[in-house]
Amino acid sequence: MKRIFFIALAVVCCFAGYGIYSYTVADWRLAPDPQTAVMETRLEPAEAEWHAPLLKGLFRKALSRRDAASEAALGPIGTAPLPLSLALPQGFEHRVRLLREGEPVFDGQAAAWEPIALEAGAYALEIDCSVPETNGTAGYGSFRYRCTFTVEPAPEPALLTGRTELRQGDVAALRLVHIPPGLAPHAETELGMAIFTPDGPGAWYVAIPVGNAQNPGQYGIRVQAGDRSFETTITVLPFDFVEQNLIVDTSSAAISEANSPAAYREYREKIPPLFDTYDAERHWHGVFAVPADGRVSTEFGTIRYTNGDYSRPRRHNGMDIAAPEGTPVFAPNAGRVVMAERLLNTGNTVVIEHGGGLKSYFFHLSRIDAAPGGMAEKGAQIGAVGSTGYSTGPHLHYEVRIGNRPINPSMLFEADAGLYCAEGGEEDAQLREAFRRREE
Ligand SMILES: [Zn+2]
Repeated sequence: MKRIFFIALAVVCCFAGYGIYSYTVADWRLAPDPQTAVMETRLEPAEAEWHAPLLKGLFRKALSRRDAASEAALGPIGTAPLPLSLALPQGFEHRVRLLREGEPVFDGQAAAWEPIALEAGAYALEIDCSVPETNGTAGYGSFRYRCTFTVEPAPEPALLTGRTELRQGDVAALRLVHIPPGLAPHAETELGMAIFTPDGPGAWYVAIPVGNAQNPGQYGIRVQAGDRSFETTITVLPFDFVEQNLIVDTSSAAISEANSPAAYREYREKIPPLFDTYDAERHWHGVFAVPADGRVSTEFGTIRYTNGDYSRPRRHNGMDIAAPEGTPVFAPNAGRVVMAERLLNTGNTVVIEHGGGLKSYFFHLSRIDAAPGGMAEKGAQIGAVGSTGYSTGPHLHYEVRIGNRPINPSMLFEADAGLYCAEGGEEDAQLREAFRRREE
């Protein structure tokens, strides 16, 4: 009888007596392990108490712990405005308290929590995850998490200017960085079309033409991004354009038709309207490739006279690549095909928009291998060399324009051309490196 009494007393002491039973860390296996995270960093509870059911809920075992070291110091977690993401465990009630510099930012049920865009500052966060006591046999208790972190101020918007001394036919490239989301910058300059295209998080890129006919001198570029404005100056240097007297057999019927008023009327109806169009995103990446194998027979910008008539000089706005009829013509860079049709003056014609109004024009093709509206990958065949339209022999007339201003195609084939130089200034090296990698 005595023995039974002692066994009963031991059982009572073990299960019913809070604090009598000395538990160990292993006993926490009886408690849940809530998964709580801030910006994907898992937190450990700073305080916890749990009443774990034993023997089908006949008894509950009380566990509690306090671990000051689990108050996580997360340090900087991002830059303002930062949407704070929380991962909270299922099956718990949550209460979130967020203080910035000691002042409450949020205090309430997590159900009301929506990612708040945090401004810069030092924050303290406390999260309670609890299961209330019920009449049932389930466990109950709470877990409390604490952490501190900082949100860094957003870096100031900055304009990166590439080369600012450019020859006629080159391109002025600019890059804006640290631009807040939802803000589309724009540029204004008499140099020509200047369309910013998105270029990675918070970054924008613009390629501005220095046309072949741009008078040497100084030109301002004004950039507006929200309430921030920037200015830079481009110095245009002369390019030594060659002159050429072209001998054309005007008695040929084909040449007469290609050179007729009707041919020029059709050209004016079809080609110049393209000058004002642009895609708001940039399709091209990396250095432009030469679109056809062959010999450069007429340089970009050549000042041309026809049959010795020196009273009427005409600009050759592209470069001519002489090659046998049927030589493949490739897209020099990625873009959208905006024209693929036969015109009287330019013959079989393909035009590719590379983004931001930068376009490639391919004239006199023997064949067209591109469809209007489709995308052309860099290196995709878009046609073949021919002599259709106003042409005296098989060659590719390759012209590049930004807006209406012709630029020098051969400069685009050089990795150090102005087009690829939208970096500089005292900007952080990481961004420049990211930009360089994008270009490769
Ligand atoms: Zn030509």
